[in-house]
Amino acid sequence: MGATILDGKKLAAEMRADIAAQVAKLKAERGITPGLGVILVGMNPASISYVTAKEKACADAGMLSRDIRLPESATQGEVIAAVSDLNGDPAVHGILVQLPLPKGIDESAVINAIAPEKDVDGFTPVNVGRMMIGERCYLPCTPHGIIQMLVRAGVVTSGKHAVVIGRSNIVGKPVAHLLMRKAEGGNATVTVCHTGTRDLAAFTRQADILIVAAGHPQTVTGEMVKPGATVIDVGVNRIPDPSRPKGYRLAGDVDFDSVSQVASLITPVPGGVGPMTITMLLYNTLAAARA
Ligand code: NAD
Repeated sequence: MGATILDGKKLAAEMRADIAAQVAKLKAERGITPGLGVILVGMNPASISYVTAKEKACADAGMLSRDIRLPESATQGEVIAAVSDLNGDPAVHGILVQLPLPKGIDESAVINAIAPEKDVDGFTPVNVGRMMIGERCYLPCTPHGIIQMLVRAGVVTSGKHAVVIGRSNIVGKPVAHLLMRKAEGGNATVTVCHTGTRDLAAFTRQADILIVAAGHPQTVTGEMVKPGATVIDVGVNRIPDPSRPKGYRLAGDVDFDSVSQVASLITPVPGGVGPMTITMLLYNTLAAARA
């Protein structure tokens, strides 16, 4: 293997220790304990495990979390009422609605109900608009976590060609925006690939920095990567594996074995982008409590 592993778990632990120290300081100096309100609808196993991990991370950082769990049968009105409840709770500084929501519930309507000053996921139109025009806002957690990883690992982005695979509102579009903005971890020339892209490999082979958020395992293999590139694998896929206690293993969107022979730096799955995403949620919740 040629590539160095970009260890998201280690970077996240360093950042979380710093956040915990700042939480303790905020409590001691201003008597404020940052609080995260979490809404989970239904029993999607992946969503349950994400919410559990986020709540544990909150507790570890000295933050409070308030959990609202609704059944799969909850109506859109009930979910929006839960959001309103958290909007009005002074102990809750940030709100997280775990996506995806069950079919029949309009995710945009629910997200739009979150008070922008509590939108620590950075998903509301107000936050997205502020980000686009460079105003102060909560940056969305996964894209912000990716930029933090690049910066903390000393990867130069300015003047480089970054190629993003994926154009979703939660990963592809915002990470492309952050990579292109004139700021630390940005100033790159950015190409966004998606399902309408013809000859994906022709683009990925040009990437100094390749961000893969396609949601399919093996989307990128070794021969699609420029030698020496930095490869960030955002994908989280459950691959059936009877030899594992849970019956599955996690894999990213990148074929780690072949790509790690060609890249200079690569994130693993698990232990790459995931821990950074949760860390940026804590970071935004702390900022919301301070505000
Ligand atoms: P999504 O399904 O909303 O979007 C996937 C995007 O990839 C689409 O825009 C599509 O056009 C593009 N795409 C799919 N196949 C492609 C192909 N073969 N060639 C080019 N483009 C292709 O997914 P998402 O919500 O953006 O998430 C992407 C992945 O990242 C998923 O595996 C998800 O689980 C994971 N994810 C991880 C974290 C984390 O913290 N680690 C956070 C969010 C999402």
